[in-house]
Amino acid sequence: MLVVCDGDDGTGEHWLREIRARGIEPLQVRVRAPEITAPRLLTAAAGRGDQDADRGLIGLAQLRRMLQTSTVGLRLLITGTEWQVLTVAAVARECGLLTSEIRASATSPGISGEAVPLIVFCAHCEAETLSPATTPGATTACAGCGRHLEIHPHVNSSQARYLGSDATAGALT
Ligand SMILES: [Zn+2]
Repeated sequence: MLVVCDGDDGTGEHWLREIRARGIEPLQVRVRAPEITAPRLLTAAAGRGDQDADRGLIGLAQLRRMLQTSTVGLRLLITGTEWQVLTVAAVARECGLLTSEIRASATSPGISGEAVPLIVFCAHCEAETLSPATTPGATTACAGCGRHLEIHPHVNSSQARYLGSDATAGALT
């Protein structure tokens, strides 16, 4: 099964050709972030206990249904931006897939992929914001506290999010 998230740099097409060359037509699922124009609050600091496992991604409900009814021996190929790939892999493991059954190829938005919405964790109020399409190094507003956050390029692999800290912190006034 092939899962292609937005921000994929063409790996999905490459895999598809490879699989088809072996005479197999893989199941395909597209997962993407919602198109938003303003930062959206994903998890407020107080709501950390009941995190949305789908992280706002569209297509994961369909993937879950497919995985839950799939047969043993399924292989999953995931491609897209880091945080999306991490989120999809977590959902797959939750549905019973083993890490050895999952192959993933992730792009860094802005470096090897295009700008996509990102999840930014605010170092100050601990809210998670789903930002409109952007790249690490850019800034976004925190939907929790309104601070102007600089998005750091490192993605947290267990939480599938980028760290954001006050972009004005360095400039003393
Ligand atoms: Zn904040």
